[in-house]
Amino acid sequence: MSIFKFKKKSTCQSGCCSPKPKSKENCPKCGEKAKGVLVKTLEHLLTTESKKKLISLEGFHYCKTPSCNIVYFREDALLNQKDITVPVGLKEGASPATVCYCFDWTKEKIKAELEATGETVALKDIKAKMENPGCSCEVLNPSGGCCLGDVGKAIKALKQEMK
Ligand SMILES: [Zn+2]
Repeated sequence: MSIFKFKKKSTCQSGCCSPKPKSKENCPKCGEKAKGVLVKTLEHLLTTESKKKLISLEGFHYCKTPSCNIVYFREDALLNQKDITVPVGLKEGASPATVCYCFDWTKEKIKAELEATGETVALKDIKAKMENPGCSCEVLNPSGGCCLGDVGKAIKALKQEMK
């Protein structure tokens, strides 16, 4: 049984994801607020070795600060990139810098598109595929949530960089 209280509505605008644990905690390393993650997200994304060391996967939070090397934390455990089977694209130095895990959009791919055409179809493509075939953010994305916000931010940042 989960000890979390769940929000009535999902934070995902498209409604593709289950409600997330409501709790927020400050990352012990960078001090930024971090959202709770579902057990099934961790079950899917942590390495076997890392899972073996943890008695349960309850109560973790996800730190999205790019310069902070902590990915998941709770009172008795800190997890970083080496505990996770996919590159955490939001973190500095991630390669490839994946931003959409369901449909495989990376910052590299978006940048190449921007360089070639000045625009990117990333958001359009993701939104269309969310409708059909649908997404699995809660088990594929390290944040456990919808990627659209992060993709939008990445596009903005890349455009800024290229000016
Ligand atoms: Zn942090």
